[in-house]
Amino acid sequence: MDFSQFAPLPVIDCHIHLRHAERAGDLERITEEVGLTAANLLAMPYAPIINQNASLIDYKAGHPNHAYISGALDHVQLLADRERAPQRLAGQIQRLKAIGFDGIKLVESKPTNRLEMNFPLDGPLYAPMWEALEAAGLPALWHVADPEEFWDFDACPDWAHEHGWFYGDAYPLKEALYAEVENVLTRHPNLRIILAHFYFLSADLPRAAGFLDRHPGAYFDLAPGIEMYQNFARNIDAAREFFLTYSDRILHGTDIGAGSSNSDPTLGIDHDDAHGRTWLIRHFLESAEPFSSPEELGHGLGMDVDGLRGIALPADALARIYAGNFHTLYGQQPATLNCDAALEELDRQAAFIDARAGAPIDSPARRVARRLRS
Ligand SMILES: [Zn+2]
Repeated sequence: MDFSQFAPLPVIDCHIHLRHAERAGDLERITEEVGLTAANLLAMPYAPIINQNASLIDYKAGHPNHAYISGALDHVQLLADRERAPQRLAGQIQRLKAIGFDGIKLVESKPTNRLEMNFPLDGPLYAPMWEALEAAGLPALWHVADPEEFWDFDACPDWAHEHGWFYGDAYPLKEALYAEVENVLTRHPNLRIILAHFYFLSADLPRAAGFLDRHPGAYFDLAPGIEMYQNFARNIDAAREFFLTYSDRILHGTDIGAGSSNSDPTLGIDHDDAHGRTWLIRHFLESAEPFSSPEELGHGLGMDVDGLRGIALPADALARIYAGNFHTLYGQQPATLNCDAALEELDRQAAFIDARAGAPIDSPARRVARRLRS
């Protein structure tokens, strides 16, 4: 795909998944091809290896000036000791900061995860964690809810059904998840939160505006769901007006790597999908020409969509969305990796995984620790 048509501005992607340290080469290539100045890499919780923090530590060690990293919480540790869990979660924030994580990633309010964990985010389990996060000044990129059609059997798209993302009676309602966020942000006005995927409010821009007005520490990223761009196209003038008004509260983010496998490192980051996502967002922001969803789009965007429209923002708004707002939240430079603190955490994870298996395991934490020591 051709990226040379776009504005020659620094571009930071705040929402990229690197699930395996072994796939660093994929990310280096994509970064170069789509022209990223820097990237914010996100770790997800994944019980067999605790979480993907090790791969981010590894990437930052090799790319100290271009990799911001957002760690996942350790729910395996948390669930093992419910009594001490609230304080332990808070302790994890301090530990992530000491290692050199630039922020945290929360996927705990995606309906599937929220159902599995079944602890309200505004409840006692997380209360000390929010306090610690606010005190540490680390931003969180937080996935809350999903598109509203996922709660409606008939409206839920086939590809979402295939992912198990139709939310029947057992699941929390979208409004219940939003209510948890309201409580957290009201209690902690100094938290800085990026709500992923435009907080799934693209169909209701007045509500999105009200939310941002109420919570000055809240931001949105632009990672598709393609439905977001369909919603914008339905009233493109209102969308443009919104982006102009809130250009200091919106961040470029693509969800590159979303479709990569948690369990299988031999499956890389989908290169075409990464191009498609980046092109979609940049074309939407920079051009007024109608367009269709690029055929390169893969995971979670599995439908062809015509009739999309762009908002052709002026350069100053683009500069804020591409990089300025990111720097406001995460600083001008990535935090420095503290190797000793990183090794301590990697050794702890590796020891836990060994103990659980009753045998030494060549876990990602152990492999990354070995590389850092060599
Ligand atoms: Zn994501």
